[in-house]
Amino acid sequence: MAGPAKNPFAAGNFSIFKFCPCGCHLGMARQIWLLLAGCLLVHGAAFVVPTSQVQVHGQNAPAMAQVQQTRYESNPYAAFSLAAMSCSVGMLLGWMRARRQHAARSVIYAAMRLSPLAASAAEQSVAMPYPIGTPGQPWGDAEKAEWLATREIERSYDKEVLSKLQGMKERFDVLQYGALSHDSSRYPLFAVKSRDWVKDKPCVLVTGGVHGYETSGVQGAIRFLETEAEKFAESFNILVAPCVSPWGYETIQRWNAQAVDPNRSFNPNGEIVPGRSFNPEAATEESEALIKFIQSCNIDSWLCHFDLHETTDSDESEFRPAKAARDGVEYQPDEVPDGFYLVSDSTNPQEEWHKKLIEEVAHVTHIALPDKDGLIIGEPVSQHGVIQIPSPRSLGLCAGVTNAKYATTTEVYPDSPSASDEQCIMAQVKSIVAGLNYFLSAEDCKA
Ligand SMILES: [Zn+2]
Repeated sequence: MAGPAKNPFAAGNFSIFKFCPCGCHLGMARQIWLLLAGCLLVHGAAFVVPTSQVQVHGQNAPAMAQVQQTRYESNPYAAFSLAAMSCSVGMLLGWMRARRQHAARSVIYAAMRLSPLAASAAEQSVAMPYPIGTPGQPWGDAEKAEWLATREIERSYDKEVLSKLQGMKERFDVLQYGALSHDSSRYPLFAVKSRDWVKDKPCVLVTGGVHGYETSGVQGAIRFLETEAEKFAESFNILVAPCVSPWGYETIQRWNAQAVDPNRSFNPNGEIVPGRSFNPEAATEESEALIKFIQSCNIDSWLCHFDLHETTDSDESEFRPAKAARDGVEYQPDEVPDGFYLVSDSTNPQEEWHKKLIEEVAHVTHIALPDKDGLIIGEPVSQHGVIQIPSPRSLGLCAGVTNAKYATTTEVYPDSPSASDEQCIMAQVKSIVAGLNYFLSAEDCKA
């Protein structure tokens, strides 16, 4: 079923601007400048700098000057490239002042994808330290305050989330379950419940925006409510918390305002294993409020839980470098998988259910393939499009917030050139629909 029409030119919606690899959803004019600057820089570099001469920190400056001089004299087109490069660098410097090194990282990351010639420079540059803190030293309060002060509001929670939930009051119970102390009037926390909850219907939880920057998680949960939830409410009690981390939604950030990852904060007393890619972090207001609200629902046993997420290019260009800086460890680059995948619990794999979800989502968007080591985000692949990790509850993930027999974390890839915003939203909706239809078509639907 088609979703409501949206303005394709609104900031963050126009698909061409997904080119901006940082996933920052900037305003249109800013993105055009950034796009131009990135193209010109890569293009100029390809003409002027031979691969063997690429040096980031200027150790080879005299030789490069010689090469540039020679090319300038012998090739007028190279002169244009040089000029274009100079303009690009100027624009980038201005941009970096405004956005610190975030934009520069993004352009470099784009260069890695677009130009093999620029790759060696890009690889070296990506290793530059995160602009906040001292490499090797964990952040204290001052660094966290600096990080917070440099975040910006990029979009409206009120317009893009709250107003849509208010419009559902006729059909669902729309309940406030808390507010973020960062700005309690701006960031009330809302959940939506299907009507007529009865004890003999299985209970279903959908969570979105635990990572606020992951747009399709939030909009997918809302779309499910708008288009599908009423039908399924005949068979299930449905609870949806569409935007668990609204400050992160507005600022397009993975962390909350206290520089803590909400999707590691659901079990603050969980064991920390050094070197493991998933580890619990401190409690957050976002997770505490949701845990308390779910407990207040007095559900003995949940049937299933869909926690809607994305894996984005900005995970590598911004958020993982930021995490390494915050924790005082070295950033280890990883590959961003191209396509949709699911995260399952190795202690409760539910392989058939996950298989059904992948089969259905494949009709909407492409499924991620393993990397050359057979892994996706460094984790083992248990079946096509599904990775297995230790118990989400032990890691502090939202997917472990209930005792649901069936729980999964969806991971949409919104930066793929072949996945539109609409496809990303529909991939999330399709996951939920496929997961619920699995129970309806099974004989033991009261599993
Ligand atoms: Zn996420």
